[in-house]
Amino acid sequence: MVRKLALALVLTLSTSLALAGTPADAASSGAPGGGTPGAPGIGDPYYPLDGNGGYDVQHYDLGIRYAPATHALAGVVQIRAEATQRLSAFNLDLDGLTIRSITVDGRPAKWSRSGTEVTVTPGRTLGFGRLFATRIVYDGVPKVIRDPNLGDGGAFTTDDGVVILGEPWVARAWFPSNDHPSDKASYSIALTVPRGLQAISNGVPAGRSTARGWTTWRWEQREPMATYLAMAAIGKYDVTAYRKNGIQFLDAIDPAIPADTYARIAKSFAREPEILRFLSGYFGPYPFRAAGGVVDADGEWGFALENQGRPIYTPQDFATQEDGDSVVVHELAHQWYGDSLAQERWRGIWLNEGFASYAEWLWSEHEGLGTVQQKFEELYATPATDSLWQSKVADPGAPNLFSRAVYSRGAMTLHALRLTVGDPAFFRILRSWAQLHRNGNVTTEEFVALAERISGRDLDGLFTAWLYTPSKPAHP
Ligand code: ZN
Repeated sequence: MVRKLALALVLTLSTSLALAGTPADAASSGAPGGGTPGAPGIGDPYYPLDGNGGYDVQHYDLGIRYAPATHALAGVVQIRAEATQRLSAFNLDLDGLTIRSITVDGRPAKWSRSGTEVTVTPGRTLGFGRLFATRIVYDGVPKVIRDPNLGDGGAFTTDDGVVILGEPWVARAWFPSNDHPSDKASYSIALTVPRGLQAISNGVPAGRSTARGWTTWRWEQREPMATYLAMAAIGKYDVTAYRKNGIQFLDAIDPAIPADTYARIAKSFAREPEILRFLSGYFGPYPFRAAGGVVDADGEWGFALENQGRPIYTPQDFATQEDGDSVVVHELAHQWYGDSLAQERWRGIWLNEGFASYAEWLWSEHEGLGTVQQKFEELYATPATDSLWQSKVADPGAPNLFSRAVYSRGAMTLHALRLTVGDPAFFRILRSWAQLHRNGNVTTEEFVALAERISGRDLDGLFTAWLYTPSKPAHP
């Protein structure tokens, strides 16, 4: 109590001191010690306020309690980051929820909010290169962020819990973050839920403990991860965990799913080690310690997502056994292309979706369900007037991240490359791409440069036609 009063006094004093300063001081609008505020966005033209400037996150420590009965979340998040400029203030992204306190390196910080931006002003300027820890205490009912073009993301309540997923926007709905895939970090995730429920997240399980009717489930995601790939699934699940080929598998299936669908899900999930081995043959070693998948009976969000090490599916994804296997192949291929290699800017979405779709074609051929060449020809027969040909695959525009062109023409681009450079060079490109940029961020320009280097050819014409021209390219 006394402590709190003293603190309030200090805050009031420093505010009036700042007000009493010179206009130049006021313009720097920050902590004593100078510096400048970090930018409110990381610089992605599609979503200018996503992410933030001035710092680079290294680790998120998420401590989150969720009560299904009230849908209420209470969080204590610690963010370890490095200042990339002399930083008088910096932003975090958070959509909804109520902030109760923020400290930087253990000292109270001021904050203000506007839309999804939280501006944090530490007690003193953070020097360039300085490592600092921000601790945020917050609570509230996490929302679903709805977008007419991109679909929904956020916290989807289910019959017995909640599933948290989305792309591109989900992290800001449940924890404060530098919410853009170009700032990857490792995660420690502790989810506290009523005893009797399970709480599944990314990475490998790191133990659990129960006290006073609540169980805390701990997860460690050590390899760097983009914010949108962080997930939580809380409820009742049948969990299958095993170790194979050096990978820790953990699958969770909602027992409320009808028996026939459940059986198909279990069968597709049982093929995960085989699918990873198949994909490793083309892409190189699986990039993570953990693998698996989650299916909830609810599935209201309506899509599958490549959450790192633990994709989430809907029961509808498993309408047939072939569909089920294929979507699992797609999300597991994303572990290389999308997760381990995350986009530097969202315009590069075809580097995720084109590659994951191409993996489905490789699998289809392997399963005797149609060759890659057939898939390509079927799509190539699409009339020139179709929307497939009216978009720029490598810069589809902010509302069109998940357009058919990004997926199908993206995959076709890879096949056009293959037909142009030949199988040996093509598969060397695919594999080198995944291995050279493992755990990193990538752009289309880097992919084109690698393809040219490995094939020893000028591929400008090919990529211009397939990736950057809104009309139907000549048959390769
Ligand atoms: Zn995908």
